[in-house]
Amino acid sequence: MAEQPKTALITGITGQDGSYLTELLLAKGYTVHGVVRRTSNLVRSRIEHLSSDPQIYGRRLFLNYGDLTDGTTLRRIFAQVQPGEVYHLAGQSHVGLSFEIPESTSEEVGMATLRLLEICRDQKQPVKFYHASSSEIFGNASESPQTEETPFRPTSPYGCAKAFATQLAGVYREAYGLFVCNGILYNHESPRRGENFVTRKIARAAARIARGLQSEVILGSLESRRDWGHARDYVAAMWLMMQHESPDDYVVATGVTHSVRDFVATAFAAVDLPWEQYVKRDPAFDRPVEPVRLVGSSAKVRETLGWQPQTAFADLVREMVEAELAVIDA
Ligand code: NAP
Ligand code: GDP
Repeated sequence: MAEQPKTALITGITGQDGSYLTELLLAKGYTVHGVVRRTSNLVRSRIEHLSSDPQIYGRRLFLNYGDLTDGTTLRRIFAQVQPGEVYHLAGQSHVGLSFEIPESTSEEVGMATLRLLEICRDQKQPVKFYHASSSEIFGNASESPQTEETPFRPTSPYGCAKAFATQLAGVYREAYGLFVCNGILYNHESPRRGENFVTRKIARAAARIARGLQSEVILGSLESRRDWGHARDYVAAMWLMMQHESPDDYVVATGVTHSVRDFVATAFAAVDLPWEQYVKRDPAFDRPVEPVRLVGSSAKVRETLGWQPQTAFADLVREMVEAELAVIDA
């Protein structure tokens, strides 16, 4: 007898990771349901190529209106979809912004995860749950590189809310025997990254300056360092965690850091421009507190799940700049 297609539910399907994960799961034969919130703009640019395809949308891809703050609707979606795998990716994802809107960030990142875990607990069918945790839980890290055992020392409202949600996910795994995984992911980028993250901002600016559409770009700290990988590689790690025989927590990282200055230099080199002439600094973009020495050890995910990053830093930067040039030149 033919195997039933697996059914996945993705919160945050319209986001960077949600869009790559949807592509991955569709390619693996899954039926994919996404939770989308009501917005004044119906364009969902990151999944438009999938949701406008009649061979896919309404057949293997479905969008359900819901909101992380609306538990009744989320529960109804679970009852209708009966997902075997839930990928919880939704929420306010910008660290800097979490200092401006800490309450709604904590509600979306922290409480909403609890809400979803409670719904999972009540499901009759077995359900696996992936929680999108973050390197920001380590914040002012006590050791470097960080592993699954490194203590949580967040330095932002976002990091605090992710730490709360990560610990709750672990409690639900232990207390109720639920299949719950925390993917502790370090920064991952792509042409689909939100425009207010530094990588996308730089890639966009380099392309626009090269085409004469912009004269400069204003940035905060150039010395900040991040462990940057490619989102396409990182969603593959999410899927692998959910296929393993037992649930666990995994750090997903490249293990290499670069500074914002490195990113700038590589992006402007891709368009043959001397970055020093175009980059201005404004401390208004500085954070009240910055995490230090955030770099991950992905030994566990490499050894247990066979995952490794496929995209080198320079290739990531080039892909992002070329994508911006392609949009301008289209
Ligand atoms: P993203 O591009 O900002 O996407 C966030 C998604 O959440 C969007 O689909 C957004 O919907 C949805 N969302 C936000 N608030 C919602 C609400 N109240 N109800 C329903 N949906 C809501 O983020 P991402 O980069 O894909 O990241 C995915 C997850 O991984 C996030 O939880 C993020 O915090 C976490 N994470 C990301 C990174 C990274 O480097 N990217 C690293 C570690 C952890 P709209 O399209 O309607 O806005
Ligand atoms: P984050 O690691 O999730 O906070 O990702 P971001 O891309 O927002 O920021 C990465 C680093 O770039 C942080 O240390 C920021 O302080 C630094 N940065 C420097 N200039 C900027 C800027 O103009 N915008 C943003 N978002 N970050 C900047």
